[in-house]
Amino acid sequence: MKIAVVGTGYVGLVTGTCFAETGNDVICVDIDKAKVEKMRNGVIPIYEPGLEVLFERNIKQGRLQFTTSLEEGIKDAKIIFLALPTPPGEDGSADLKYILGVAKDLGPLLKKYTVIVDKSTVPVGTADLVKAEISANCSVDFDVVSNPEFLREGAAVNDFLKPDRVVIGRETEVAEKVMGELYAPFVRQGHPIIFMDIKSAELTKYAANAFLATKITFMNEIANLAEKVGADVENVRKGIGTDSRIGMRFLFAGIGYGGSCFPKDVMALSKISEDNDYDFKILNAVTEVNHSQKTKLFPTILNHFGGNLKGKKIAMWGLAFKPNTDDIREAPALYMIDKLVEAGAIITAYDPEGMPNIKITIGDKIAYAKNMYDVLEGADALLIVTEWSVFRTPDFNKIVSKMPSKVIFDGRNLYDADKMTEKGFDYTCIGRGNG
Ligand code: NAD
Repeated sequence: MKIAVVGTGYVGLVTGTCFAETGNDVICVDIDKAKVEKMRNGVIPIYEPGLEVLFERNIKQGRLQFTTSLEEGIKDAKIIFLALPTPPGEDGSADLKYILGVAKDLGPLLKKYTVIVDKSTVPVGTADLVKAEISANCSVDFDVVSNPEFLREGAAVNDFLKPDRVVIGRETEVAEKVMGELYAPFVRQGHPIIFMDIKSAELTKYAANAFLATKITFMNEIANLAEKVGADVENVRKGIGTDSRIGMRFLFAGIGYGGSCFPKDVMALSKISEDNDYDFKILNAVTEVNHSQKTKLFPTILNHFGGNLKGKKIAMWGLAFKPNTDDIREAPALYMIDKLVEAGAIITAYDPEGMPNIKITIGDKIAYAKNMYDVLEGADALLIVTEWSVFRTPDFNKIVSKMPSKVIFDGRNLYDADKMTEKGFDYTCIGRGNG
């Protein structure tokens, strides 16, 4: 099948590459000229484990191409995916300017029946708006379909190739057939393609992300309470996660969720609720709790240094909003950096993949180290922000040789608190009765 993917970011590039991998001819369109040039030269613009191999193979075999021209990209396409940004507007609602802008441009370019697919996370009713924009200046028949994406950055390729489910909101049988054929290779192991009405598909994506954000936040609140009552959130996690009704995933306490999806999607769902006269109380609380959770360790650090952080050297492990990605959007690290630098601390950070992006955002507000041990040189304390695997079993002797103070603030509960105390570390983590 000939497919166009408009917007070649984390979602668009994975989508386009994985559809090419199953034998489709894919053209990815992006307005970012430098990005398109890079991809045309075979350079992958994001870090996503496992993507590079597929990217290179499909370019080499001529199934994956890139262009900045919407007209050229969609010329022969049977299906056009919109994988465009939907950032939060000032009032928290999803800003649809990218989606509707492209929809408007598409109208006159469509020359035959085409399925237009909303892959972006969009408010309920967006498909109708897309349809109206295209129809305003279009002479052929087309369908608009909602196909929300559930991939996780860091595991995106596997999530896309082996999805738990594919959700498709459609109005016509033709659109259902086209989408069913496209996704058939991805659900051979029996995972379902769930066809539904478009509004339910649009709401499903927000419901999924809001539920997961709520689960994380609930556990963070349990952690905060555990600190007050002298309990250990890790024990509680095991105690409840083994209940099959609850499950182990998304129960790790820490310094809050970040990323380009959870924060904005929770806010957008709150706004959708508000616009529809529904006060979604839990969601508002989730945003509020998560916001304060991101800087939860700041008062503890300040207190440790007697209320004065001026000139204190803080080493930071982790910048990306989670491991296995270079994405730093809404990363808790950014919030901690702001607080610490404002209080006069001097930060040197290391992240396996997140440093180039953070440099673009905050430049020399902090210093950067080449590896996880160099960052500790002369530091007064280590602050762990992202749970990269490489931080899980460090050489503790090396840590001590570089940072004799042995002070660690761990925002991701990577180590056994008792063992750290045995090793002589002044170790603070989340929710283990040590707040
Ligand atoms: P992104 O910012 O990484 O990528 C968007 C791309 O669109 C960029 O490359 C940008 O240059 C391009 N673009 C902007 N305007 C354009 C235009 N007019 N024409 C062509 N290209 C244009 O965004 P993303 O993280 O891939 O997210 C895209 C959508 O998918 C969002 O709605 C997001 O909420 C949703 N989503 C994201 C994830 C995720 O993990 N990142 C997961 C599921 C869903």
